[in-house]
Amino acid sequence: MPELDPSGLGGLFERGIITRGQFLRALAALGVTIPTTEMLFGGGARPVLAAPASATYLVVIVLDAFRADYLQLQSMPALSALIASGTFYPNAWVGHLESETPTGHASLSTGSIPARTGILGFEWRDGKTKQEVMDGWSAGVLAGDMDRDLRASGTGSIPAAIKAANPAARVVTLSSEKVYAADAMGGPTADYILFHKHTGPTRTQLLPSAVPGHAPPPAFFSHPNLRAHTPMGNFQEWDWLSAMLALAAFDEFHPTALMINLPGADVYGHPYGPAVPAVMQQVIDGLDRNIARIVRAYQKAGIYDQTVFVVTADHGMVPNNRSVGEQTIKAAVKAAGGELQFMWGGTGACIWLRNWWRGRAVAEAMLRVRSVAAAYYQVDRGGRYQYLPAPGMVIDPGLDAANQYLLATFGGPKAPDVVAPFRENTIAKVYSHARGDHGGLNWGSQHIPLVIAGPGVAPGRISFYPSRLVDIAPTVLRLLGIPAPAMDGVVLADALTSPLAADTAIQQALAPQLSTYQSALITQSQDNIAEDAELGIKSKGPRTIHA
Ligand SMILES: [Zn+2]
Repeated sequence: MPELDPSGLGGLFERGIITRGQFLRALAALGVTIPTTEMLFGGGARPVLAAPASATYLVVIVLDAFRADYLQLQSMPALSALIASGTFYPNAWVGHLESETPTGHASLSTGSIPARTGILGFEWRDGKTKQEVMDGWSAGVLAGDMDRDLRASGTGSIPAAIKAANPAARVVTLSSEKVYAADAMGGPTADYILFHKHTGPTRTQLLPSAVPGHAPPPAFFSHPNLRAHTPMGNFQEWDWLSAMLALAAFDEFHPTALMINLPGADVYGHPYGPAVPAVMQQVIDGLDRNIARIVRAYQKAGIYDQTVFVVTADHGMVPNNRSVGEQTIKAAVKAAGGELQFMWGGTGACIWLRNWWRGRAVAEAMLRVRSVAAAYYQVDRGGRYQYLPAPGMVIDPGLDAANQYLLATFGGPKAPDVVAPFRENTIAKVYSHARGDHGGLNWGSQHIPLVIAGPGVAPGRISFYPSRLVDIAPTVLRLLGIPAPAMDGVVLADALTSPLAADTAIQQALAPQLSTYQSALITQSQDNIAEDAELGIKSKGPRTIHA
């Protein structure tokens, strides 16, 4: 038999090209034991189940920068109801780099890793011209650059698959505060991509607006309660505004898919840090109220039972127990003979060099910077890109493997020459500028919530499967009964009441490896947190609190 990955094998089995016995033996060769697969399939040959009755509507709610442990900070009755009625993944993680907003939303929607979508973060390097590309920022989005990049990548997406199956279906994506989140989800094919534009002489007026090429009929914008102004009256208003856009779009267009970014936990997580209950409890309370409003609208319209709901986050957020200042990184680059092109901080340093051949030396220098956990430099071996450990790096092999897995999700000609992951609870901005950040490989940036509920979803199930953002698109398309193009993610078969046998086998084949990576990242995180506690190193909170 030719060499195949689990996905290829599953396809052959589903199409009847290989027998069940051949399929099981091939899975065993990939590390899935026969007892496990017998358990999955049952004792005897079970026919492949027909796909269950499909859901008709999809609602995806992304709680921006929502740490998985925020669920313990404040009660969330609306989210708890979805968890109780659906499948919940306590070990969900981003599973790619960078753990940034444009990246997370693009990978969620496309089911593809950043190396394939081309959306690596806010900024990356053009593979051909070697120039800095800033297409992830609002200006790039509004100029149509992110749409162009996503189209050029050739990746499929939730909106594209829905529109291909039914051109009359409406797909709406939105975010009050983060147009790059809305556009990364919508891509070139969503009908309407909505956000709030800052306008007026002091830019304090907030007007409902749309990404060019994705504008609804002008009458939409005269819906009531879509206008606001800064400063905000409270910590819940940005999310309330996103929900208002969502409810107006629901009323007006009855979209097949409504993909919503609620930005509050990010907007306030950066300036206040995630460890300030006074702020974050209010934010979380507001997030839940807005989830409730959206769910209620579907109930009131009588289509709740036909709708798949997904609630997740695009990345986490870590407090500033420690910081690695940008000046420190710049000094290390310079001392190693590197010429900095640009860099991105977050919770790991991503460094693009003009003289990429100094990457090895720069990685070696970064390794000596306090609170840096590891350092890698990228090499191009005839078009095959690979990150290598900095010379002299001592690291647990399991953690190195986890880091390499994440690095490979964005590796390539656009990716940074040097990546230096930080310890847990360490950010790249100094105290007065930020108390929380994300972006890197650490567990606090990677760990996210994920719940899927609706027709075809197993109710009341808790799965400890290490589900990733790229797994959401294939899963929801399966639930909608819509063919999905090739994607990096897999169907989360354990969330389905009637999974296809091949989906189950593929999902399970990946579980051991992904769980090993997670364990290494979690162990590092716990070790770092314990060490900080012992040393009395704490997050530095805000001086004043105001929305
Ligand atoms: Zn975000």
